[in-house]
Amino acid sequence: MSELAYPYEAPASQALFDRAAAVTPGGVNSPVRAFRAVGGTPRFMVSGSGPYLTDADGREYVDLVCSWGPMILGHAHPEVIAAVQEAVARGTSFGTPAEGEVALAEAMVERVAPLGEVRLVSSGTEATMSAIRLARGFTQRTKVIKFAGCYHGHVDSLLAAAGSGVATFALPDTPGVTGAQASDTIVLPYNDLEAVHAAFAAHPGEIACVITEASPGNMGVVPPLPGFNQGLKDACAANGALFVSDEVMTGFRTSRAGWYGVEGVVPDLMTFGKVMGGGFPAAAFGGRADVMAHLAPAGPVYQAGTLSGNPVATAAGLAQLRLLDDAAYEKVDAVSARIQSLVTEALAKEGVAHTLQTASNMFSVFFTDRPVRNYEDAKAQESFRFTAFFHSLLSHGVYLPPSSFESWFVSTAHDERAVQRIADALPAAARAAAEATA
Ligand code: PLP
Repeated sequence: MSELAYPYEAPASQALFDRAAAVTPGGVNSPVRAFRAVGGTPRFMVSGSGPYLTDADGREYVDLVCSWGPMILGHAHPEVIAAVQEAVARGTSFGTPAEGEVALAEAMVERVAPLGEVRLVSSGTEATMSAIRLARGFTQRTKVIKFAGCYHGHVDSLLAAAGSGVATFALPDTPGVTGAQASDTIVLPYNDLEAVHAAFAAHPGEIACVITEASPGNMGVVPPLPGFNQGLKDACAANGALFVSDEVMTGFRTSRAGWYGVEGVVPDLMTFGKVMGGGFPAAAFGGRADVMAHLAPAGPVYQAGTLSGNPVATAAGLAQLRLLDDAAYEKVDAVSARIQSLVTEALAKEGVAHTLQTASNMFSVFFTDRPVRNYEDAKAQESFRFTAFFHSLLSHGVYLPPSSFESWFVSTAHDERAVQRIADALPAAARAAAEATA
């Protein structure tokens, strides 16, 4: 749908977008923010408080993106802000070890049993890139299995049939990734163990690891079928490969111990980001201590970062993790379940074919009446209905991810008022979805 289909209704955001476009490619620093999949003016936000975001035109939205996952306590949580202010006053980066990074690593290891050791980095991309390097260094093998529709950040070798922004723009691959980088990546359909067994059989002794989103959220929410993750783990163990579970999105969100806490399948390596950074750039990878011992300076696999374990980021992450007790997860799960049923009710009332899929409190709606088990299924939905649904909600003060290939996120701060705003906005949005044409 073209941008012209939507009236010019956010003048301050539009002015900022015009300024941004003059100095930044496409006017944004991460592609999905540009609204290209849905058209219209991306909203430039100036503040966030609890479940709300306020844009440059002074409009308030109930936020169902939560910074793509991290803000599980809502925006500007007072205790997280206090921890950050306290840390900032002591200096913003030392380039030396500091206690905060030890405390954050301890908190992660305490929650997630398979974590023998962790290494802190600054983004989920760095975490998956480093985990892949470590898996290759440890196994002395080159090939990596990933799944179509799973996004692991913009790591060169993993930008093949990736989800998220890559799914949104339907780029089969990206220019700039060489054939050599992509040739060691084997892309398989998600939830298909037979394809995994066949790949191991076709490449004996060559596969370093299988990387998968613990429960994918980057082609919309497509949870693993029962036994899929365990099957991956077993196939890896039988073939001398490592099982890498990417919990950047699910980690410390889908439960106290992330998706591992839901399913209990023990990976060799895991990656984290988002929630553990409390809204700051902190991420990590970790797992079996004997594998992690191969990392420099303990071992030969090099990995480093000027801002890794940054004291402000670790203070924010630690404050957030400390607040995420059982009651907090119960609250997020409960509010998520309420919003899910409101969405289903509204769409059903208008006769809109849809499938709502969940992974604990993560969820998304596919505009199809068929279950979505992999990327092909996800792409078969009627995305034009999402566009109409999205814009109707936006105009009624509800901010969804601007793409039908993304998870929706809620927080402990989504209270009665916020839920009511969504409930009030849904009937018109469902009607818009029903009336939409391709
Ligand atoms: N892995 C998963 C599962 C993700 O969802 C993402 C980002 O959305 C990443 C990795 C990359 O993280 P980042 O954007 O912090 O580089």
